[in-house]
Amino acid sequence: MAKCSCAGGVKVVLPCSGSANVGQIANEAAKRLDIEGTAKFFCTAGLGGHVSGMVASVKGADKVLVLDGCPVGCARKCAEEAGISGFERVVVSELGIEKKHEFNIAEADIQKVVAQCRATLSASGAKKGAGCCG
Ligand code: SF4
Repeated sequence: MAKCSCAGGVKVVLPCSGSANVGQIANEAAKRLDIEGTAKFFCTAGLGGHVSGMVASVKGADKVLVLDGCPVGCARKCAEEAGISGFERVVVSELGIEKKHEFNIAEADIQKVVAQCRATLSASGAKKGAGCCG
């Protein structure tokens, strides 16, 4: 179970989880960020599908990180379609990882993306003030 990240506000990560190595690296990185308590992994498809509770939860977060596999930007488009703004963004293929339609993902690439996500979240300013525990 993820730790509460209240001290730094509620942080959310939205991976594209796409059908390519870079999409699956994004998905794996989001899982690890959630498990370590850095950011809650939310269902990006739920935003694209306008699931009202999910949209409200993400809009209520202090920091939102969109994690796309490639420049097509499907996670970004889902977030924008749901009316989410002011988010940070990391694109896996812009970190020196070539996009391929395969699912053999390297541990070193996952760790590189996780590190970039941590750095991006810690460098960004909070959208709102209070944390989730008051
Ligand atoms: S951003 Fe790229 S990898 Fe991710 S779902 Fe879209 S096309 Fe696939």
